[in-house]
Amino acid sequence: MIQPRVYLDHNASAPLRSAAREKLIEALELAGNPSSVHAEGRFARRIVDEVRAAIADVLNARPDEIVFTSGATEANNLVMAAGWKSIFLSGVEHDSVAVPAHASGARIVSLPVTEHGRVTVETLAKAVEAQPCALDRALLTLQAANNETGILQDLEPVFSFARAAGITTHTDAVQFAGRLPFDRERAGADLVSISAHKLGGPKGVGALVVRDGLPLRPLLVGGGQQRYRRAGTEAVALIAGFGAALREAASELDRRDQIGALRDSMEETLLQTCPDALIIGQTAARLPNTTAIAVPGYRAETMVIQLDLAGIAVGAGAACSSGKVSQSAVLAAMGLGPHIAGAAIRISLGSSTSPSDVRRFCDAWAAIRHSQSIRHGLHAYRAGGGGTEVGADRTAQGD
Ligand code: PMP
Repeated sequence: MIQPRVYLDHNASAPLRSAAREKLIEALELAGNPSSVHAEGRFARRIVDEVRAAIADVLNARPDEIVFTSGATEANNLVMAAGWKSIFLSGVEHDSVAVPAHASGARIVSLPVTEHGRVTVETLAKAVEAQPCALDRALLTLQAANNETGILQDLEPVFSFARAAGITTHTDAVQFAGRLPFDRERAGADLVSISAHKLGGPKGVGALVVRDGLPLRPLLVGGGQQRYRRAGTEAVALIAGFGAALREAASELDRRDQIGALRDSMEETLLQTCPDALIIGQTAARLPNTTAIAVPGYRAETMVIQLDLAGIAVGAGAACSSGKVSQSAVLAAMGLGPHIAGAAIRISLGSSTSPSDVRRFCDAWAAIRHSQSIRHGLHAYRAGGGGTEVGADRTAQGD
């Protein structure tokens, strides 16, 4: 009997929720352009406005502060292009933040992270003290949760310090929103990026929350839509699906402990199977759905492919946008060497993940580990190592 595949890569993209599919398909049938004044146009406008209000409600913002985009990459690019003189940037940000920040022409003030992947108030204070001139038209961008490790940033104190110093604050909350309660006001974020497909909505739509009065430089011009902040007819059907997914994700937030318990029991099993494995950020505050695990010296890419062949989808530690897995810059920024940073795979659960999915993954992982150990043991034996146990650095060469 062919077993159904097990999908454990929700941080890359989550399966479309059925409520989102329903709303998306319904809205695909609509003829009206939300900018048109006739009834059809007004109907489409109402859908867009309702989702705007829903997002505002979930994030504790105002509806007119929501700008729909094609996803978080665009939202992050929009933020970075706003004409900042300085951008305070950590090494664990997503490329869609870091690359446009570097390309923006702003002075980049690098913020080191702790071994737990976090930016602290002390780090920011030191950076500000070292470069007081960087405070003029300055942005601090700090993700809410990391896509590779699930590690959470302590936004409240860091953003509070930044705002007191006159620095505008942005958070990429793509991995956080819909998984943990996010309150824009409590976090002290002036700008917030979110994306639909991470929380069970369709791919190709996201939003930027822009605190009222904050001047942006639109990336797309040539239309007055969205108060001139993003020209172009709104993607009504995608937005409708986004709204349904966000509402459902928000209503399921109380299930987060259940997902966390499933993740924790998975980690326990993995460590029992392989005590030399390292769970990255295990003692740090993390998203309840994410595990980044490395067996020192075992290449992530090999593990991902072997799991894929076993019918299980997980992510490699690093972004894999070109189909090629590179060593994780995020883990390197946390001070982890290549034998760990190149070995980390990411398992990310979602609301549809069952205990039997996790069991199948753990069994497959153990079987792959076992066959790798035998293979490496043989290599070592043939190379004259006799029966010696293969250590982390030996396996690094053997894989
Ligand atoms: N930020 C983070 C933290 C992400 O994980 C991703 C998706 N990989 C993005 C931004 C980009 O989002 P999108 O796919 O909507 O462009």
